[in-house]
Amino acid sequence: MPPPQQAESSSPVPGAVPNVPRETIAAIATAAGRAGIGVVRLSGKTVRELSERLLGPGLSSALQPRHATLAIFRDGQGEAIDQGVALLFAAPHSYTGEDVLELQGHGGPAVLQRLLQRCLELGARLAEPGEFTLRAYLNGKIDLAQAESVADLIDASSAQAAQSAARSLVGQFSQQIHKLTHRLIELRAQVEATIDFPEEEIDLESHQALINKLAAVTGDLDGLTANAAQGALLRDGLTVVLIGRPNVGKSSLLNRLAGEDLAIVTPIAGTTRDQVRATITLNGVPVHLIDTAGLRETEDTVEKIGIERTWAAVRAAGAAVLIAEAGEMVGPEQAEILAQLPGSLPVAWVYNKIDIHGTEPRQQEEANHISIYLSALTGEGVDALRQWMLKVAGWQPDGGGVFMARARHLDALRLARQHLAAAAGTGRQFELFAEELRLAQRALSSITGEFSADDLLGEIFSRFCIGK
Ligand code: GDP
Repeated sequence: MPPPQQAESSSPVPGAVPNVPRETIAAIATAAGRAGIGVVRLSGKTVRELSERLLGPGLSSALQPRHATLAIFRDGQGEAIDQGVALLFAAPHSYTGEDVLELQGHGGPAVLQRLLQRCLELGARLAEPGEFTLRAYLNGKIDLAQAESVADLIDASSAQAAQSAARSLVGQFSQQIHKLTHRLIELRAQVEATIDFPEEEIDLESHQALINKLAAVTGDLDGLTANAAQGALLRDGLTVVLIGRPNVGKSSLLNRLAGEDLAIVTPIAGTTRDQVRATITLNGVPVHLIDTAGLRETEDTVEKIGIERTWAAVRAAGAAVLIAEAGEMVGPEQAEILAQLPGSLPVAWVYNKIDIHGTEPRQQEEANHISIYLSALTGEGVDALRQWMLKVAGWQPDGGGVFMARARHLDALRLARQHLAAAAGTGRQFELFAEELRLAQRALSSITGEFSADDLLGEIFSRFCIGK
């Protein structure tokens, strides 16, 4: 029996991709706006010719890979566009695996646009979002999970999210996936070796040894999934519906929740005047808040659309917080919204302003919700609400080994887990056992990109910023 195909797991990326695009791409890699330095980046097969015309032949040939060279970047008439540093990374030792030229000039929008235009004039094409990273992936410089973490690092909204994205970027998540995949391959080889023998010849002891190994791999997969789930939480966060009549202290409470974590409260204009959304971070976990104040009957068509959108968001939320003043009954409007929430949604009833009502901060589990008494003004009792939200989100306080992960990765880990469970249930049917292991291995490999459909790549890279 030959060993299971190594190709399914050993190389992080499919070795040679035949139709890797080679035309030279260019983009401004730094953020729009004024800054000390701005970078235009080029990658592709004509980078060297292009640099000759941009920097002048003498200077271009003086460019030594990875050495900073002071240069004048020139337009078609030989006029200076800017003076800056040219940095050549020769293929394959570059980010994309192709020849890459970085032009580090002054960070003004007009000068950078002129420099970019000049590169386009010289035959480069404007890069698509994420195209540099796509090329890095296609050329085997990084695997798919690492490529995704590039975007996640750039988009990280908290220090914790940035830290876990960096762990994935340097390959820690992928390494764990590869380790598990290799153990599955070993196990598969052992199981497949037994297939050639009649069942009665495999003694119970060897069968038990296989089962024990399977259990060990399953345990480690569970550990990795838990860390990845925490990472996904740092990326995607929890959506919380806020219900409460005006003046109960919603904004004060938000500021209090956010303020202690030094997070920024960012009101994002909704589709209607009333729809308010804000994101705060609690221990690095983004909490997206939807205010239901705008959910009322209306005849205005535009407003109706906005309200329907809010409802859709409300129905998809992970938790709800009802805010009332301590000693106050829940109003009919709020009760109506509460009644329309899914029954399984975790709900907290927050009684605010205990400082004026002379009530002590406390929390109390009720039949279908938790009651929390607090004061947004003094901060008393607010930590209980914060802890409740983190618990509902599934946040574990020890974030040591957390990797940035996406829903796609979690789905693949869960699929692998299902196949391992199925393998455990195959008894002495070793063909089935081996097949389940193969499917589990395949699910894991999809994370790092060995089996990725083109449409998945399109979906992933189109969400990048241009220049990355
Ligand atoms: P919103 O309309 O629900 O967003 O309510 P605000 O946050 O704007 O608060 C309404 C008023 O209640 C403001 O004057 C706040 O200072 C006050 N307020 C909010 N929370 C508290 C609290 O815990 N104690 C006291 N005494 N006043 C509060």
